[in-house]
Amino acid sequence: MSPPVTFTLDLEDLRTSPAQESRLEGVMDRLLDRLDELGITGTVFCVGDLVRRHPALIARIAAAGHELAVHGFHHVPLDLLDPERFKRQNHDARALLEDVGGAEVVGFRAPQFSLVPETAWAVDILADLGFRYSSSVMPAPSPLYGWPGAPATPFRWPNGLVELPCPILLVRGRAIPFLGGTYVRVLPDAVRRRGMATADPRTVLWTYCHPWEFDPGERFYVFEHGGLPASVVGRTNRKGMMARVERVFADAGVGPRLAEAVAGLGELPGFRPPDDGTTTGALQGMLRRRAPSA
Ligand SMILES: [Zn+2]
Repeated sequence: MSPPVTFTLDLEDLRTSPAQESRLEGVMDRLLDRLDELGITGTVFCVGDLVRRHPALIARIAAAGHELAVHGFHHVPLDLLDPERFKRQNHDARALLEDVGGAEVVGFRAPQFSLVPETAWAVDILADLGFRYSSSVMPAPSPLYGWPGAPATPFRWPNGLVELPCPILLVRGRAIPFLGGTYVRVLPDAVRRRGMATADPRTVLWTYCHPWEFDPGERFYVFEHGGLPASVVGRTNRKGMMARVERVFADAGVGPRLAEAVAGLGELPGFRPPDDGTTTGALQGMLRRRAPSA
């Protein structure tokens, strides 16, 4: 029996130009209605810039019972920011989100899971800013950002910040983030079910979907930073996405919002980033391509 799954969404905008039609409000209205019908509340990681441009939408998300959390201010991966800018932008994103949502914000997710050994400086800044948990580590090799060797179940950084690593299924040494929107949408349900059935019972299971995945009517465009192949995969089975997500929760049940999941965790193992953790980071840098994975 799988542990329940928490619904999480990364609220971001991949259009390359503001001249392109924004469908965010309509898509989110339909998604919020359907989640409400299904009795699903979860955690929505919001890009600060979108909070500034769509405050009424953010207030609707909060009023529907979802937890609001931060997903950067401009959806820039951590390695492209310096600590100073990272601190300023995420302070601002958190303050804005608390103001618009009317509740304390304690969760952070790095764009594209870009918390890796070379960006581990971000951990102390997150704790200083008042975040209590992060959901930013892909604990496996990845063509984007990954941290092979990081624990795959929840752990504490040395400063006490809780990390909820991305749930993965290992298949022949390859890590599949089986609850990621792309994987739920594109792979057979059997893969996702195998991931859930074999998950370590200590794992906090969560999806990470994106609004555009629920929008089959959107005109095709190449995602910002995505490239053509990722953009084509991004079009695949948008029509069937809601049904796929519904089956995740029919199979597993609805887990608590991540802030509550963290509050309910008992003693957690600690994990200290290696002082010379730059080897993995450098390797990741060589392999890295920009793609809208999270
Ligand atoms: Zn993202």
